[in-house]
Amino acid sequence: MNVKNKNYINNKWVDAIDGGTFDIENPFTEQIIATAPYSKEKDVDHAVNAAMSAWGNWKTLGSLDMRDLLREVAVKSRKNDREIAEIIVAESGKPLIECLDEIEWIASIFEYYSEIGRDQKGRVVAPVVSRSMSMVVKEPYGVVGCIVPWNYPLLLMAWEVAPALAAGNTLVIKPSEYTPLSIMRWLEIACDHLPNGVVNMITGDGITGSYIVEHPLTRVIAFTGSVDTGKKIAMMAAKQLKKTSLELGGNDPIIICDDVDIEIAARGTTWGGLLNAGQVCTSLERVFVMETVADNFIEAVVEEAKKVRLGDPMNGKTDMGPMSSFEALKKVDDKVNRAKAEGARLLTGGSKPENFDKGYFYRPTVFDKIESHMEMMNIETFGPVIPIQKVKNLSEAINLANDSEYGLGCNIYTNDMEKALTAAEDIKAGSFWINDPLTDNEAAPFGGMKMSGGGRELGIEGLDEFREPKHILIDYKIRDKDYWFPYDLDEGRKT
Ligand code: NAD
Repeated sequence: MNVKNKNYINNKWVDAIDGGTFDIENPFTEQIIATAPYSKEKDVDHAVNAAMSAWGNWKTLGSLDMRDLLREVAVKSRKNDREIAEIIVAESGKPLIECLDEIEWIASIFEYYSEIGRDQKGRVVAPVVSRSMSMVVKEPYGVVGCIVPWNYPLLLMAWEVAPALAAGNTLVIKPSEYTPLSIMRWLEIACDHLPNGVVNMITGDGITGSYIVEHPLTRVIAFTGSVDTGKKIAMMAAKQLKKTSLELGGNDPIIICDDVDIEIAARGTTWGGLLNAGQVCTSLERVFVMETVADNFIEAVVEEAKKVRLGDPMNGKTDMGPMSSFEALKKVDDKVNRAKAEGARLLTGGSKPENFDKGYFYRPTVFDKIESHMEMMNIETFGPVIPIQKVKNLSEAINLANDSEYGLGCNIYTNDMEKALTAAEDIKAGSFWINDPLTDNEAAPFGGMKMSGGGRELGIEGLDEFREPKHILIDYKIRDKDYWFPYDLDEGRKT
């Protein structure tokens, strides 16, 4: 594998200062495929200072130059899509086709922000007095720390890096300890033309990440990951009143109404629950089906789940690869066992498949006889598990969908627009998908309500996460003001 296995600071590839490393495992072969630097406080300081030094020139770059540089990232990413995608496969176990999609999506993100980054940068508001002007200018914060997870290593990084750069910030990226290799190669191939120090990357675990959060020169922490880590980061950042943009976990519902083609709804639900082995923040994790069609729907989901082809993620006909790590597999298996103990009925799956000697595979799993108090309906599973609960009507489904600490996404299948839009209005979720589970649009915002986070990615909202407004007032007629000294209430105000 053609990867540097080093930190990227000031456009140079460097080892951790004390030479420490950690191993990266391929979850399909269970082999160690590479090492990466284990970065500590001094490495973080080196990277943050490089980003700080680069900021002065980057924030004042002309908008056309900025556009050209960001566009080139998109061009180079697409040109090398296969090579980078294969590295994601090796470190994450995701099927190649999904990794190729990921590269196309990041190219598209860089194109999008290369353009809207040079559009409006603020507004002019009506002045309070004549012959004056009030401008609102949105300016970059400075150095952004970008801490990302392993399930879409490049995509979730690009959702933060592209707008942060377009807004005029510089960055220090920390990939997940499970998937740093694709980001290393992407930086080498697609970002080598960016000025020194504009994008830096250091590898390590949560301790490395915490140094980025605590560094006095990082002004924004853009974090994507679990709710537990998000809470820790928010508390650390609060000590310096640092801005955070938090994209956290979910336990997303889908509501299946009785007026739709049940086969299609079952296929959509199966895909949305099992895509990337269920390791998607917006995976379908709570399925609410109207009881009039529930039996047919459940049968169809079980059939679909049984058809899913597990195998080598490099094979173009593999639907689902292994889970990303032994830890991820163990967590899901434990949750499945607890669901059985709680009384949920296992209809298919629920264990490791027997036909693989190696690889962290888990069988697509479907449960029914699910009740709201069960763990799965309250805590994110993050695995290939579809729990199905019967409901009497839409209002029960809406109440159950809202009965959650999370509020990332929500889905519905119905042909009845009254039902669809009532649910969209009444359910607290950052995204609401009607008849098209999990589809994002980079021009529209993505993010969570409630415990699923704070802040938004994508769209103009995603750009605004990385710039802060400044009011500039200009009085272009210099004159005396009637509210200055000396005060005299008896005489009233001067005119
Ligand atoms: P995680 O929270 O364990 O780790 C995410 C990143 O944070 C990693 O880079 C990790 O090294 C770092 N980290 C861990 N502890 C830290 C600390 N104390 N300080 C600073 N950094 C720290 O999450 P994960 O297991 O990598 O990813 C899975 C989670 O991410 C799921 O909960 C999933 O729903 C969520 N996720 C959310 C979105 C979204 O957009 N809302 C997208 C993808 C994944």
